[in-house]
Amino acid sequence: MTHPRPPVDLRSDTVTRPTRRMREAMAAAEVGDDVYGEDPTVLALQAEAAELLGHEAALFMPSGTMANQVAIHLHTRPGDEVVVEATAHSYDWELGAMAVLSGVQPRVVQGDRGELRPASVAREVEARPEVRSRVALVIVENTHNMAGGRLVPQESLEEVSKVCAGHGVAVHLDGARLMNAVVASGRRAAELAGVADTVAVSLSKGLCAPAGSLLAGPAALIDEARRIRKLFGGGMRQVGILAAAGRLALAEMVDRLAEDHAKARRLAEGLLATGRVELAFGHVDTNIVVVDVRASGLAASELCERAADRGVLCLPTSRETVRLVTHRDVSDEQVDEAVEVLQRLLETA
Ligand SMILES: *Cc1c(COP(=O)(O)O)cnc(C)c1O
Repeated sequence: MTHPRPPVDLRSDTVTRPTRRMREAMAAAEVGDDVYGEDPTVLALQAEAAELLGHEAALFMPSGTMANQVAIHLHTRPGDEVVVEATAHSYDWELGAMAVLSGVQPRVVQGDRGELRPASVAREVEARPEVRSRVALVIVENTHNMAGGRLVPQESLEEVSKVCAGHGVAVHLDGARLMNAVVASGRRAAELAGVADTVAVSLSKGLCAPAGSLLAGPAALIDEARRIRKLFGGGMRQVGILAAAGRLALAEMVDRLAEDHAKARRLAEGLLATGRVELAFGHVDTNIVVVDVRASGLAASELCERAADRGVLCLPTSRETVRLVTHRDVSDEQVDEAVEVLQRLLETA
């Protein structure tokens, strides 16, 4: 059974299309060869991002994965260890890139709903060089994708940062959805980004740009990041066309993330009302809802398949959990439609 209406796509906020204003800005963008550092639109985006994030410099990246992997390469030497939370994107969802591209070994630490506990970090960074390789880097993630878009407590991140500084260990913040954290916490982006030596921010998730991420940090490191980006095949030419959309993403698209967060709460309330699901992590902090569907008697993949037949797309993230992500391209009416479809499936299972 295929549904006549356009699907309600809750798989990810990456499915958002660029806005009309972005398309216009892209068409009109001044461009140059960015490998030579001569694209004025890219330079403007990088300067604005550095200012926003409170870091000395920023670099435009083709993807969030490349931003994270360039950061890992910057902070490590082959044989080093990277302390990372067990469900972190940079470890669990980037195809082993840190091993392939940087020759480093992840030291995986079980977190608390995505939060790397300062005490766990302290335990890991206390070097025993005679038997263990050097811990060169700790990666934190905010908001935490696989922990249901969790807003990680700022005090905890600050504590991790302090522990690392005390041991000469670098911190990288995977802030693919840092702007969701800004909106949910009411804190400034620079405050949230201030816990790390480098920070990666995606422009193409809830912020709706068609592609691109930023990596921000100290000027000397970002100079080196430019070289590594080229090494990884990420040097781009007249890419001001994409940067033009990225500038609007930062300037105009942040505040509206609050609408996505409200839609996520409404979606969660509708699903919880069935009594057949639970919030897998006990919260809806931002635009991601992860529900545990065990009580429904359905496997996560079964529920998603049946929902897809009825025009609602969502992703199984394990045998018993389903992730639903709200964004600009799902309307309030579509959220209600998704709730109705999922309620019926859960209640008749
Ligand atoms: C999406 C995501 C990334 C990777 O971004 P891409 O642009 O898809 O490569 C990295 N980290 C987190 C937390 C993400 O959610």
